[in-house]
Order: sequence, then structure tokens, then C-alpha cells
Amino acid sequence: MPPHILDHLAESPDPAVREAARRTLVASAQLRGARSARSAPGADLATPTRGRRTIFDAQHRESLVDAELMRTETAPPSADPAVNQAFDGLGATRQFYAEVLHRDSIDGMGMRLDGYVHYGDQFNNAFWDGRHMVFGDGDSVMFTDFTASLDVIGHELTHGVTQMTAGLTYHNQPGALNESMSDVFGSLIKQWSLDQTAEEADWLIGAEIFTPSHAGDALRSMKDPGQAYDNPTMGKDPQPGHMTDFMVLPDTARGDWGGVHINSGIPNRAFHLAAVNIGGQAWKAPGHIWYEALKASSRTTDFQQFADTTAAKAAQLYGPDAQDAVTDAWGQVGITVAGTPPPRGLHDRMPRRLERYPNAEELDRT
Ligand SMILES: [Zn+2]
Repeated sequence: MPPHILDHLAESPDPAVREAARRTLVASAQLRGARSARSAPGADLATPTRGRRTIFDAQHRESLVDAELMRTETAPPSADPAVNQAFDGLGATRQFYAEVLHRDSIDGMGMRLDGYVHYGDQFNNAFWDGRHMVFGDGDSVMFTDFTASLDVIGHELTHGVTQMTAGLTYHNQPGALNESMSDVFGSLIKQWSLDQTAEEADWLIGAEIFTPSHAGDALRSMKDPGQAYDNPTMGKDPQPGHMTDFMVLPDTARGDWGGVHINSGIPNRAFHLAAVNIGGQAWKAPGHIWYEALKASSRTTDFQQFADTTAAKAAQLYGPDAQDAVTDAWGQVGITVAGTPPPRGLHDRMPRRLERYPNAEELDRT
């Protein structure tokens, strides 16, 4: 959950919304701390169990220690819909990674999948904490039960995949790429389960759980970053869809670690455009190109390096037409793939704007 949304809600005139947002901000900061600790080398991450699912009920506490076991892989469905939605969402995600990308669970080695539902009191978030999936119930005004959105479940588990492949740091451009990977594969899991083509898909993230009283909006739109929502409580979706609108933000919790949930709009849109350029089902060639590029990336990979890698993977896996489709997609968001002519009209404004963005490694050190 982007902190800019929670910040808006924390200033809401409605005391219930305000209180829920403030509690979520505090609890999310604690979970984020746990995630970085567990990402540290040597952390005990993998237990090979063929991706066995276990769902627990956190019983509205902000601790996982005393959670009640609700459903295991072989048990019948629970009376609690949140338990079953989490179970099914983890299952669909596991199956997508296995069948489409030939990856055995999050770590590629059958890591068990533990989900915790009813975390905290009206908790407005869902989280991968480095080892578990955690779902809040939402405050029923701005968000409903986070287990209700398959792309959100896929998004969170993909944070685990990214952590165990490229390990993209959660700051600045690498952080925005990390967020974008989660949106890309979260959306692909939903498209795959609905058997939609790139043209048919809505490319929205979290539409099912975001503002239940407003139809048609979502947390993010990969097709139209900046157009996912616009309402008095939340303000307007701040995501850019082009490098000329890249937002330079401080690398702090308040600054969304350099805008990781904001600037992700740029690579998100590039993926959507590549998928439409290639055509058909986006989890096929486009999804494989992005997955191979993710595996070939490192902690500090930035937008430019990732764009270059996707074009190289497209050429290697699918030939020159796919490479052109990918190169064109990045060109449309203002990123010129290395060794190709710059997109028309961008030549003048790009370098000047780019001077404002020191590379992510430098920002990380300051
Ligand atoms: Zn995320």
C-alpha cells in the first residue's frame, strides 16, 4: 500500500477512516522492518514442502505468534470466506508460477506458503513480510478484505520471487522496478486465471478491494498510470506513465522510498504496451521475457538497464519482431533501449530531465 494513500486517509474528516489509516501506517512500518531483516543473507527462508499452503487467523492482532491454524492443504474449506480466498489465491499463484514459468513456489524450491488473514484491526494493507503473506480486513470504507483480490495476492507473493531472484532493493528506481514486477506478475496471474488476452484484460491492480462504494476504480492502472482513481478522500492517482513525469522523492518512508509505488507506473505501462504490441495472452512471450529479465537483474538494476535486458531477452527468446515490440514499448514511456535510435520528440527533453536523477546506487548511500 502506497504511503501517499494512507497519508491522505490519516487526514480524513471521518474519525474511523483516520484511525484505521494511522494504525495501518504504524503496523506497516513494523512489517517492512521485518521484511528487510528476513531478506538478509543467511535468513531461514526455504523449507521445501512443494509449496504447501497453510492459512492462519491472526484474530485481529498485530502479531502472528498466537494465530490460529484454519486450513491446511488437505483440509476441507473453512466457514470463513477470507480463509478460503487466501487459500485459493495462494493456490492460483503457485500454479501460475509452476505451469507458466516452471518455478516451484516462491523460492523455486517448493517453499511453503503461509497466509495470515484478519491481521490487525481494520488493517488497510496486505503484506509479504519476507516469509509470510499477511492480509488485513480493510476499514470497509476505503478498502475491503484484501484476500478478495487475486492480483493483490499475486503481487505480494511476487515480492518473494523478486527477493529470491534479482533482490531489487526497495529504494528509488530498483524499488519501483520491484513494485512493477509485483504488479506485472500479479496482473498476469489474474489474466491467466480468467483466460484473457492483453486487449481484454483491465490491467487494474486491486479493483476488487479498493473503495467498495466507487465502481471502476483501483489502486493502480498499468494501462493508464495516473488514472486509477480520483476522489475527494484519496485525491488523484499520482502515478506517472512517462519518464518526463518521473517523480523525484526522498528515500524515506514518507517519500515512499523514492516513490517506489509511484514511479512503478512507468515500467508498468511499458509492460502493458509490450504485451499489446506482441498481442495475445500476456503471460506467454511478454511474461517470459520479463521473468527472464528479472532473473538476469541485480539489486541495483535501474529502468534503463532493465529495459535493455528485456530487449535482449526478447531477441534471444523470440527473435527480432519481439525485440522491436519491446523496444517500441520502452520508447513510448521515454526510455531508449541501448543501441537503438531515440523515439521521436524525446531527444531534446530526455537528457535534461535525466540529470535530475542520480543513479539509484548514489541515492542509496545518502
Ligand atoms: Zn508491493
